[in-house]
Amino acid sequence: MDLRSHGGDGDGTVYDAAVVGGGLIGLVTAWRAAGRGLRTALVDPRPGGGAARVAAGMLAAVTELHHGEEALLDLNLASAGRYPEFAAELAEATGTDIAYRACGTLQVALDADDRAQLRELHALQRRCGLDTQWLTGRECRRLEPMLAPGVRGGLRVDGDHQTDPRLLVAALLTACERAGVSFVNATATGLVVRGDRAAGVRLDGGTVLAADRTVLAGGSRSAGLDGIPPSVAVPVRPVKGQILRLRMPSGGGAPFLSRTVRAVVRGEQVYLVPRASGELVVGATVEEQGWDTSVTAGGVYQLLRDARELLPGLTELPLAETCAGLRPTSPDNAPLLGPTALPGLFLATGHHRNGVLLAPITGEAMAVALTTGELPDYARPFSAQRFSHDHREVPA
Ligand SMILES: Cc1cc2nc3c(=O)[nH]c(=O)nc-3n(C[C@H](O)[C@H](O)[C@H](O)COP(=O)(O)OP(=O)(O)OC[C@H]3O[C@@H](n4cnc5c(N)ncnc54)[C@H](O)[C@@H]3O)c2cc1C
Repeated sequence: MDLRSHGGDGDGTVYDAAVVGGGLIGLVTAWRAAGRGLRTALVDPRPGGGAARVAAGMLAAVTELHHGEEALLDLNLASAGRYPEFAAELAEATGTDIAYRACGTLQVALDADDRAQLRELHALQRRCGLDTQWLTGRECRRLEPMLAPGVRGGLRVDGDHQTDPRLLVAALLTACERAGVSFVNATATGLVVRGDRAAGVRLDGGTVLAADRTVLAGGSRSAGLDGIPPSVAVPVRPVKGQILRLRMPSGGGAPFLSRTVRAVVRGEQVYLVPRASGELVVGATVEEQGWDTSVTAGGVYQLLRDARELLPGLTELPLAETCAGLRPTSPDNAPLLGPTALPGLFLATGHHRNGVLLAPITGEAMAVALTTGELPDYARPFSAQRFSHDHREVPA
């Protein structure tokens, strides 16, 4: 097998790290790896694409808390706490402002059933030590006057913020370039295993990119390479989300909406994320549809119907864009991070609804794992090996 490096020069380079996938998670991993002095290659035919082109950009550690996902809460909160510094660091490294906005979130209820459900969520948040405040419908409308008169109550969550994922990806592309990451515009088709370790990846076209450590960060397609041994489980599947972008009125006067507003309407989550740029993101469907990324009439209808119940004035706004993407999802909705059972092979995938939120801490944890061979303590519950048959418990 030809184990010469790919990258144009054919000089036999063996990279310290090859990251497969240049979505948000692969980019942040490559940036942090290069920052630790690792000679890093990033393999993707279209780096900077992926789900972040679609994502809303909520940094919703608290309002994304679901029953049974309490373990993820600590990681989400830790990553949310890193965002201001992460945004400042990216701005300094690249000159790009990722539009991090500490705007807070209002989670509202539209009928008695919703209100009962929201009360339960509030109780769960309190049990988890989270600081959220119950508001009456009137108090909600005082904060956001465009809300529907029927809003029955809500939770004020001042710690759940937002960023613009498209700007974030653009900043990370520049940051990687400036940190010396080698971009390899190709698809990885197979994992190269020599002896008992991963030794790089085979690219479409047949060349091999040699590396001491290989990271699978291909989002929903992370398991798609030939040659991944059966001892390494990569249990990710795509979960489709459709989303809309509207334009809010510009000019003076009160803002159309000043913070993220979300609700459960007829059992479906709906959220509205107002950006400083005037964009209003309305999301998102959650669909098990395999690899399908079509925007459907039914998806657009559902989002507009539910969003209008929250904010009736929204149907007057211009509809600027519709799109759909795939959330890389693991069996427990939490990420798969760090070393696998095969020496030299690492995972950084499975971030599901929280990839934007978890970008700072993922980059940090992966850089530690790539340089020391082990995840930092805070990331150990999300070990890439937790779904492997021969997984042994990692001591806490
Ligand atoms: C509708 C929607 C709304 C969302 N809203 C939010 C939100 O508000 N907040 C939040 O935190 N998260 C949100 N997310 C989730 C977030 O967008 C994802 O978790 C995150 O973007 C996943 O990034 P990734 O890099 O792991 O995967 P992806 O974005 O899927 O990127 C994978 C990359 O790998 C490449 N690739 C795949 N296979 C190969 C291969 N064999 N060789 C080379 N390259 C390969 C692909 O080309 C792609 O560029 C949302 C997602 C969706 C769909």
